[in-house]
Amino acid sequence: MKYKPEDYSVRATDFYGFDDDEIENYNEKLVKCRKPHKCMGGCEKEIPAGTYAIRETGFMDGRPVSSYTCTDCIDKWLDEINGKEVVI
Ligand SMILES: [Zn+2]
Repeated sequence: MKYKPEDYSVRATDFYGFDDDEIENYNEKLVKCRKPHKCMGGCEKEIPAGTYAIRETGFMDGRPVSSYTCTDCIDKWLDEINGKEVVI
């Protein structure tokens, strides 16, 4: 994590996330994962338990949905927004 915790927002980066029109009670939060989760941010890596990730939650068609994005992906997006060179 290179940025301040409050900078880690999927919605603010606008790179990825649930569509506002499709999701109710949308919420996102920087959380410490208790279980491993697959990153939905594009890297497809597993986010190990005990590390930070952005969790997005809400309801789609009346069913609860959730998605996790690792902080590495957010770092990359924030770098792009901030105009830094991105080495992938
Ligand atoms: Zn990722």
